[in-house]
Amino acid sequence: MIRPYKKSLLTPGPTPVPEEVLLSQAESTIHHRTDEFRSILKEVSEDLKTIFQTKNQVLIVSSSGTGVMEAAVANLMQDGVRFIPVVGGKFGERWAEITKAYGAEYDVLDLEWGVTLNLDDLREKLKVGDSRKVILTTLCETSTGVNYDIRSMASLAKEFNALIVVDAISGLGADELRMDDWGLDIVVSGSQKGLMLPPGLAFISLSKDAQSLIESSSSPKYYFDLIKAGKSASKFDTPWTPAVNMIVALRTALKMILDEGIENVWKRHANLAAMTREAVASLGLKVFAQRPSSTLTSVLIPESLDSEEMVKFIRAEFGISIAGGQAELKGKIIRVAHLGYINLFDVLSGIAAIEFGLHHFGYKFKLGAGILKLEEEFLKSCKDEA
Ligand SMILES: *Cc1c(COP(=O)(O)O)cnc(C)c1O
Repeated sequence: MIRPYKKSLLTPGPTPVPEEVLLSQAESTIHHRTDEFRSILKEVSEDLKTIFQTKNQVLIVSSSGTGVMEAAVANLMQDGVRFIPVVGGKFGERWAEITKAYGAEYDVLDLEWGVTLNLDDLREKLKVGDSRKVILTTLCETSTGVNYDIRSMASLAKEFNALIVVDAISGLGADELRMDDWGLDIVVSGSQKGLMLPPGLAFISLSKDAQSLIESSSSPKYYFDLIKAGKSASKFDTPWTPAVNMIVALRTALKMILDEGIENVWKRHANLAAMTREAVASLGLKVFAQRPSSTLTSVLIPESLDSEEMVKFIRAEFGISIAGGQAELKGKIIRVAHLGYINLFDVLSGIAAIEFGLHHFGYKFKLGAGILKLEEEFLKSCKDEA
């Protein structure tokens, strides 16, 4: 085997970073209390609003994605508020763990992993008691590849005067999301997924309802005080030293996304995802997610195979990183991301690597079937467009 020098990321975070973005990050660090930096903050804040599809402020925080999940709970919690974490995978579990860690009142809506939510089950949770409900959910549950129907959940929330908080850390810039049109109260995201940056920045946007609920909370918080962050952001400033070079790189990444157009970016992800699903089906494999996200495709591996071994083999032999399963799905699924700075040929090499992996571990199928299918689907999609 030829040992790989060249490495590529087909993981649902971190994702590949374009060279232009890396180069912007390498520019000399500038001081953050300057007009020069404030004008960069102003520009990225405007661009983020387009990505979030909102007129609300989008706050930029120096942390990984989990930091802003925690910020949402820490700032909202108060007497008379009950959180409803929707748990259908690892990241839904994280919502429940955060509410528990803060000693907040919560009532988990447990879902089967890989399956979408039944709105009636959510309705039942919303009906209980007279506390103000806050739904904590996920646009793309990265551990299973499910895309939840956030839009319908949000309109149900409105019937009960409940708030809805969405973890769009992996989904933003891949799966369609319209914060204002759908009536979402808090949307959080991170830098290392669809936004094509290294890990290290996080984003959070609040609706007017979220803002006023936060104003009535006196729960302990300091670094993640969103009122303080919001006041600074109105002056194109941040309360603490921001990750300056990351924000300079963010400007480049957002320009790339907006040059393509957010709707086109969603479409590209949807197309790559659809082709990937067809390709794996032609290998005789099943997609795990009932309502698959455009962010990644989760694939059930034949029971005779261990997906962990396959992931290791593919990384060692070909330098291609795909993800395995987490928790109860460990060994059972692989997850191939088509997220962020990814094109047709990245996905083609991913499918080829999966074929080699399946072949290596003795799975019987027609070598090249996935690649052929992907190429056929691509040509079909060109015809549809013409
Ligand atoms: C990656 C991811 C996170 C975690 O973000 P960190 O940056 O590792 O803190 C949270 N939620 C979802 C859905 C993710 O995909």
